[in-house]
Amino acid sequence: MQRALTVCPYCGTGCMLHLVSDSGRLVGVEPSATHPVNRGSLCIKGWNAFAFVAHPERLTRPLIRKNGALVPAGWDEALERVVTGIRAVQGTSGKDSVMFAASAKATNEENFLLMKLARRVFGTNNIDHCARLCHSSTVTGLVQMFGSGAMTNSIDCFDKSDLIFVIGSNTTEQHPLIGTRIMNAVRRGTKLIVADNRCIRLSRHADLHLRHKNGSDVPLLSAMMQTIVSEGLADTEFISARTENYGALVESLAGWSPEMAASITGLAAEEIVQAARMFAGARSAMIVYAMGITQHSHGVDNVRCCANLAMLTGNIGRPGTGVNPLRGQNNVQGACDMGALPDMYSGYQRAADPDVRSKFALAWGGEPLPDTPGLPLTLAMNAAHSGSIRAMFIMGENPILSDPDQGHARAALERLDLLVVQDIFLTETARMADVVLPAACYAEKDGTFTSTERRVQLLRKACDPPGDARPDWQIIAALAKSAGYSGMEYNGTAEIMEEISRLSPIYGGISHDRLTPYGLQWPCPDHNHPGTPILHVKGFSRGVGRFMPVAYRGPAEIPDKEYPLTLTTGRTYFHWHTGSMTRRSHLLEREEREGFVEVNPADAGRINLRDGESVVVSSRRGKVFVRARLTEIVPEGVLFMPFHFAENAANALTNNVLDQESHIPEFKICAVRMERVP
Ligand code: SF4
Repeated sequence: MQRALTVCPYCGTGCMLHLVSDSGRLVGVEPSATHPVNRGSLCIKGWNAFAFVAHPERLTRPLIRKNGALVPAGWDEALERVVTGIRAVQGTSGKDSVMFAASAKATNEENFLLMKLARRVFGTNNIDHCARLCHSSTVTGLVQMFGSGAMTNSIDCFDKSDLIFVIGSNTTEQHPLIGTRIMNAVRRGTKLIVADNRCIRLSRHADLHLRHKNGSDVPLLSAMMQTIVSEGLADTEFISARTENYGALVESLAGWSPEMAASITGLAAEEIVQAARMFAGARSAMIVYAMGITQHSHGVDNVRCCANLAMLTGNIGRPGTGVNPLRGQNNVQGACDMGALPDMYSGYQRAADPDVRSKFALAWGGEPLPDTPGLPLTLAMNAAHSGSIRAMFIMGENPILSDPDQGHARAALERLDLLVVQDIFLTETARMADVVLPAACYAEKDGTFTSTERRVQLLRKACDPPGDARPDWQIIAALAKSAGYSGMEYNGTAEIMEEISRLSPIYGGISHDRLTPYGLQWPCPDHNHPGTPILHVKGFSRGVGRFMPVAYRGPAEIPDKEYPLTLTTGRTYFHWHTGSMTRRSHLLEREEREGFVEVNPADAGRINLRDGESVVVSSRRGKVFVRARLTEIVPEGVLFMPFHFAENAANALTNNVLDQESHIPEFKICAVRMERVP
């Protein structure tokens, strides 16, 4: 038996585990007993992280569409087809008619190379990834106010906080081991406020559960802040020493009495006051949020309110405090760090800055790099729909299930002249491709992932990829070579990390040989630096923290006569993202085989619906047949559906309206109706 210490491929918690293999075949998983985050535990997904690796449906050869069908091909032919296809599209429609989608499931080294391929080899800033769908509001909001868009504190800080305020995060299901940390902290006496209108598991352990209406986070947080200001509970010392623009915040809060917020949130004014007093009264209070905050047409405003509340109470830069956005997929933090973003190079260096472009151009062979702004992924999908994006290269993502308004996403991809998908399975998106490139999965390669707490960790190869599948970084390097660029001939991923650290100051001291055993947290500017568990300790990354006033805007689509219910979407404990890996893990699939919709018994009663019966849920964009679960987890008037299941795709219903600053879609709210299937 061999054991390879590596990183869990699912959520951003960043647990490390040993992949156990016997004669080259994976047979199981053991948690790392000494890892500082998972400390000998794993959630059910981690325990099953070996199960999909040898699944018979793994892609083993490149596929090329011929006469309407995907047929096996050799690597040379497939790479040639991709390069000539992209060149042809660029020749007729311009360099920016191509979009590259990087992947939160691929390593840092691979995301860096895809960013380099897009900018250096194909001359476009059109590179983005699925953070656009989950935490782009966080990056936009927190960079403006703090100078950094990442989780400010470490997972360890959950053990050091007097009060944890969880808003818009179903932590026990999405980040199970962080959820466990929170519940353990509560057992030891930490106070817990949960703001979520579903009765999630954490809410049962909360000192205060705020079931505010979907989309009313800004009124709730604004009224909490107004209460803190008017009752003299603000940390004036912190505000005057460390922040700017406080006056503008106070002015913007003027109308937000608890009664005013109560009329919008559906809460009692006393609950809002109680939350404000509890939060401001704690010696150390931390805010934890996820996509319940970010995935709104006003997602950046929600993030700004969280950051304002933390600064108002001096809860930044100390253990047990901070603004802590929990990153979804295991390397979504790293994909952002690597500059898989249309406006940033690696290390959040602005693509619009000529000095940044010159630095990268010099390192990459001297050719000038593109200066036209790139497209965010969501706008690129719209551009594909309208015809100005003609080709897409998608690495390890499945937008047919993960993008809002499935009908729109499908039509957009169908209109392309060239769709290339690089993945480990023939996903719903890959089935539509002109070329499919078979990739190695996390267990079959090395490199690094960066977890939600900015911890850069090494993954280690435990077995060989199936058939002709190759690690993503090797495929990208081969594409570059095929396109005539010689600057991607690496001997291994450690060499790519050397280039990343040379060019990206926050990774300046990170190299593979420094990451044993459990990684380093960026910023890590030089080779003697120990890493940074807590950000903004003495000063903010931008100098001083900037308060930003927020004006309330409601959701883009609210219930009406035709569509009288609110649909919200999310994830479940057993599955991950679009299910391409967890649904091919037999135990996880056995536990939850199909999609479902949570329905409050009062709503069910109106259509004589019983638990387990099927319904059709319709929105202005589509309809889905799905089995109903009658439960008081959801309040009356609200339905909840997970988005993992192709057969009952929640995103056939969701609304493709975007936040105007971050371009994140409003996954969390749309108006629907529900009918019983006779
Ligand atoms: Fe993997 Fe996240 Fe579960 Fe840890 S909590 S084992 S990282 S899915």
